[in-house]
Amino acid sequence: MSRPISIAVHGGAGTILPELLTPALEKEYKHHLQLAIDTGHQLLSSGESALVAAAAAVSVLEDCELFNAGKGSVFTAEGQHEMDAAIMCGKTLEAGSVAAVTGIKNPIQLAHRVLTHSEHVMLIGKGAEQFAKEHGLKFENPEYFFNQYRYDQWQQLKGTKKFQLDHSEAIRDRKHGTVGAVCLDLQGNLAAATSTGGMTNKQYGRVGDSALIGVGNYANNKTCAVSCTGSGEFFIRSVVAYDISALMEHTGMSLEKAAEKVIHQRMLQEGDGGVIAVDRFGNIAMPFNSAGMYRAAKKNNEPTFVAIYK
Ligand code: ASP
Repeated sequence: MSRPISIAVHGGAGTILPELLTPALEKEYKHHLQLAIDTGHQLLSSGESALVAAAAAVSVLEDCELFNAGKGSVFTAEGQHEMDAAIMCGKTLEAGSVAAVTGIKNPIQLAHRVLTHSEHVMLIGKGAEQFAKEHGLKFENPEYFFNQYRYDQWQQLKGTKKFQLDHSEAIRDRKHGTVGAVCLDLQGNLAAATSTGGMTNKQYGRVGDSALIGVGNYANNKTCAVSCTGSGEFFIRSVVAYDISALMEHTGMSLEKAAEKVIHQRMLQEGDGGVIAVDRFGNIAMPFNSAGMYRAAKKNNEPTFVAIYK
């Protein structure tokens, strides 16, 4: 049998209320998840690395304004878009990450460039933007990132100290639209990529879990590749992605058991969200403790699995 390839993607988790998701909107979400899978899977099939495939799949979701990453990112308290992204190679443990960047069309491509072209792992704000300019990354105007739905979300919180996560009653549709991809390539290498606009009305240069290696994003060929979505503050304190890998490495637990255990038992109870993860055999796990998680997966040439609810 030829070597396995696998890819899984997510478009965020949370209280995705069926009554707010029209059939047409649901179709559109699923279409873009499928598109991300197809993009990554095609690259993996042609022998491209897990790293390149994961970044390409995430870029597809960043370019779709339905998701809170790249185009369509949420608004900060100052009415800006500050985006976080991270990528990691399971073979070399090289990683690249950017936080609180503005105007970058595809923050995941910038994180990838940090991985390949910088001695550093994490660049933030103006410095990261300077690095992006020097490396020819594409910039866009604020209008490109604007989305009416995200703007209306911000209007409900503007002027308060609350950010979206704290505001479950006023905002019924309490979902996180972060995007991510995890891949296993033909060479047996794993990679994880994650990108987000963060939380609506975030203040003071807040950075979430998505930009943090080992927290919202992690890959290690010995174990697995993981990308998270959910209430970043709790994911940070629970060190979610590395915890799954560490359980596998130190106890021999399977990917599925480790991912389930971390999401349902080990993560701080207030944390809501989920993960997508793949191991070196191509097994995929996608547990979440929220009402839904936009997700899709494909192993080898099996049909694509696409789902939103449990
Ligand atoms: N985890 C992200 C953050 O806290 C939010 C999300 O998953 O949508 O920035």
